Amino acid sequence: MKIQIVGAGPAGLYFAALMKRHDASHDITIHERNPRTATWGFGVVFSDRALDFLRADDEALYQYLMPHLETWPEITIVHDFTRIPVAGNGFSSIGRLDLLTLLYAYVERLGVKIVFDTEVTSFAQLGPCDLIVGANGVSSWIRAENEAKFGTRTDWRPNKFIWYGTSKAFNSLTLTFRNTDVGVFCAHHYRYRPDRSTFLVEAEEATWKRAGFDAMSPQDTIAYCERVFAPDLEGHPVISNNSYWRNFPAIWNEHWSFDKVVLVGDALRTAHFSIGSGTRLAMEDAVALFKAFNECGADIPAALARFQALRLPPMKSIWDAANVSAHWYEQMDELVRTLSPIEFAYSYMTRTGRVDHDEVRRRDPKLAQAYERLHPELLK
Ligand SMILES: Cc1cc2nc3c(=O)[nH]c(=O)nc-3n(C[C@H](O)[C@H](O)[C@H](O)COP(=O)(O)OP(=O)(O)OC[C@H]3O[C@@H](n4cnc5c(N)ncnc54)[C@H](O)[C@@H]3O)c2cc1C
Repeated sequence: MKIQIVGAGPAGLYFAALMKRHDASHDITIHERNPRTATWGFGVVFSDRALDFLRADDEALYQYLMPHLETWPEITIVHDFTRIPVAGNGFSSIGRLDLLTLLYAYVERLGVKIVFDTEVTSFAQLGPCDLIVGANGVSSWIRAENEAKFGTRTDWRPNKFIWYGTSKAFNSLTLTFRNTDVGVFCAHHYRYRPDRSTFLVEAEEATWKRAGFDAMSPQDTIAYCERVFAPDLEGHPVISNNSYWRNFPAIWNEHWSFDKVVLVGDALRTAHFSIGSGTRLAMEDAVALFKAFNECGADIPAALARFQALRLPPMKSIWDAANVSAHWYEQMDELVRTLSPIEFAYSYMTRTGRVDHDEVRRRDPKLAQAYERLHPELLK
């Protein structure tokens, strides 16, 4: 098959790798608008569960990536100034550019062509082919220009967030909620290299406005965040990489393909970053699309229908959890102000409804016991 992929993110790269590894006669080209060495963002995380899925699907890739990951066995919730370590939540992280560079090498060794510095703006630009994969991320024009065919729904979430980094190397994945006189700010921070951490700052819109961020320069915005999180940064700077305040779009499509065009990854659907699953979902889309072609051969309509049937149930359940998690962050002011540190950490752990009390007890008996002391009715 002749396959044209738009976007060299995790979804497009991994789909290309799986197809080419299975059948070297496929002619696959990936078009990427960025240069090989440039990307946005800092590090991304995988939960242990996400890595288990990858390992089950592709032991070779898992072994290839593992030496480059930073890992830790617990997360830490900071309720204003009280630190609550929560056991039983393993995470790994990697710089986004490191991940992409590893995947570039992986697919190029297999014989996939990647054309960098090339923005694709129309299907005509791709020429004749059997399959077009829209792997061009959250702002995909392939989706935006065909919303009626895809049945696209976009729900812009109200919180504001900005994706920074810092030179401080944090010891665990930490969610720091700081209560200030204008409202609560949350930093999602984790090390992804021995000398670098992601430092994503999030706030409710009202807090963001009271802080005056709507009229603040990039330098003053950094200085403000450094002041709010000074006890955590310990003198390390907040680092920008084209960082700007955004709102998160929760995107869903009823139909994932038309003719020979299919969406994967963030172009297909977005999952709020607070559940750390965007990269994993993108790679799982690639696995499902590959499996569909494996089952259906070169019958494109059958394979694309099979892709949606295979992938919908597991994807929908994570997408729902991500939306519930986003909603929890949208109430962070009230939660921080009304809950004690233990109750807050417990609320965080159980926020998506996928972790119940028994599961908290299994993961972190100390947290469960501390919560039971505050809520003895749980033991009745
Ligand atoms: C603030 C934030 C934090 C995140 N944190 C995490 C995290 O901790 N863990 C996690 O797993 N995920 C995280 N994610 C999500 C994760 O980055 C994405 O879900 C994941 O990268 C999606 O992969 P993708 O391949 O679908 O798209 P992308 O990684 O976005 O790749 C799309 C590619 O397409 C290219 N492109 C776009 N348009 C064109 C065009 N017209 N022509 C050519 N090329 C084009 C882009 O340059 C890009 O390289 C986060 C996302 C955000 C916004």
